Amino acid sequence: MAIGMGGNEGNLRRAFRLARQRLFPLLRNPKMSPIYRTSPVGGPPQPDFLNAVVVGTTSLTAHALLTLLRKSEIAAGRKPGGPKNGPRPLDLDLLLYGSRRVATPRLQVPHPRMTSRLFVLVPLADVAPRRVVPGTGKTVARFLEEARRRSTENVRRARASF
Ligand code: ADP
Ligand code: MG
Repeated sequence: MAIGMGGNEGNLRRAFRLARQRLFPLLRNPKMSPIYRTSPVGGPPQPDFLNAVVVGTTSLTAHALLTLLRKSEIAAGRKPGGPKNGPRPLDLDLLLYGSRRVATPRLQVPHPRMTSRLFVLVPLADVAPRRVVPGTGKTVARFLEEARRRSTENVRRARASF
């Protein structure tokens, strides 16, 4: 599975460390991408984000994973509410869960917006370029190539690595 990590508010080093420390023990062969500094997509004017992706395999269900992600966001200081796409200390999204597709109100996998967003595709392609996105027949690398042609998002390697 693959999890997208992002944040643009407060102590991001702390938030990314916390996410990593909570997720890695639950995964087999966990791997984290480099961290990128990215321009916000949508929402009010706000600081740049840091983004990264974690991949690995797990025996947890997709819904159990989602619950864990929510708890980690809250532990990092995220408050419910706030403007859509607004600033947040930590955002954890379940991007992929093997070849499974989930479509419930609470959980959609693959994450519906992942195939157009450079801030997801760039770090995901670092750790899983050949992964096929279920339901599309296309690889992560292919989606990245297509998104690069269309997108004006600014995504660059951050100096920080946590
Ligand atoms: P976003 O990540 O879209 O900026 P939020 O983090 O506030 O916004 O999430 C909004 C809702 O998205 C959550 O209540 C969650 O239940 C739902 N959701 C649906 N699919 C997923 C997924 N694959 N990963 C994370 N959250 C998801
Ligand atoms: Mg989210």
